[in-house]
Amino acid sequence: MDAPLHRIVIVGGGAGGLELATRLGNKLGRRRKAAVTLIDGKRTHLWKPLLHEVAAGSMDQGLNEIDYLAQAYWHGFTYRAGNMTGLDRTRRVVHVAPFIDAEGRQVTPAQEVGYDTLVIAIGSLTNDFGTPGVKEHAIALETADEAARFHARLVNACIRAHVQKEPLRPEQLQQARAATELWKAKPVNAETNTVTIPDAWRESDAKTASVDMKQAVRNIQLILNKNGYDAGSADGLMGAKTKLAIAAFQKDNGMEATGEVDEKLVKKLLEKK
Ligand SMILES: Cc1cc2nc3c(=O)[nH]c(=O)nc-3n(C[C@H](O)[C@H](O)[C@H](O)COP(=O)(O)OP(=O)(O)OC[C@H]3O[C@@H](n4cnc5c(N)ncnc54)[C@H](O)[C@@H]3O)c2cc1C
Repeated sequence: MDAPLHRIVIVGGGAGGLELATRLGNKLGRRRKAAVTLIDGKRTHLWKPLLHEVAAGSMDQGLNEIDYLAQAYWHGFTYRAGNMTGLDRTRRVVHVAPFIDAEGRQVTPAQEVGYDTLVIAIGSLTNDFGTPGVKEHAIALETADEAARFHARLVNACIRAHVQKEPLRPEQLQQARAATELWKAKPVNAETNTVTIPDAWRESDAKTASVDMKQAVRNIQLILNKNGYDAGSADGLMGAKTKLAIAAFQKDNGMEATGEVDEKLVKKLLEKK
């Protein structure tokens, strides 16, 4: 009988946890060298730096989020839905809360997930430092739900203003003036939005700048879309939609439908440019 696989459990599928689960799944899970499990209270991941676009309404969330189940399927790990509520270090188990769907129905019961190696990557929460009024009036921009709530409030305010028949009341005018005067555009700091990966973090010596990779994925998306495969918006991100489009293209062109970018795929895509 085969020895049981080493169980790696990652709690939190955010920027850190999802990347780790994907890499470990590719490297160990697929080859059955370890059982990699990702636990998250949500069903999908949306990269936080995109939240302001959801809040502004300039981005379709569905096109850019990564579905944990699909990602797990493509990258050799298991996804368990539910929030971690506790940890028993002696028995090496994580306690996971029941997962309840949008209609309030239970999908999975409370469960225990055993581990040999545990990574907790549950991120952080906004701190209002007890500033009066913040909790009651401000919406944090930490999750896609909050971004969607902000967007709904923004649009509703605009519609309300649009249908208002009577002239602006003095307090409305005062509020609008104060808000406009407070807002000052700041120059864009390009460095803030550029990620420089230290050499020590790389798995190989290949020095592929993250910016170049993004451009490469963007080109792939453009060619796929041009050829009738729906890769979503050309945003340079390898989301679920892009992967499905790549897999469909690979299948139609006699390649193994991995949904991954490799040399064979790039060559074929360039022929169809
Ligand atoms: C609006 C905004 C813009 C940003 N812009 C940038 C930027 O331009 N550049 C940059 O470098 N950084 C940016 N950041 C910061 C960056 O997003 C974070 O540093 C990064 O997401 C942290 O990664 P993480 O994996 O630690 O946590 P997160 O990405 O926050 O992920 C945490 C995950 O854990 C899950 N989770 C939480 N609690 C539990 C639980 N109990 N059980 C199970 N799962 C749980 C959550 O659902 C989530 O999926 C931005 C952040 C925000 C909010």
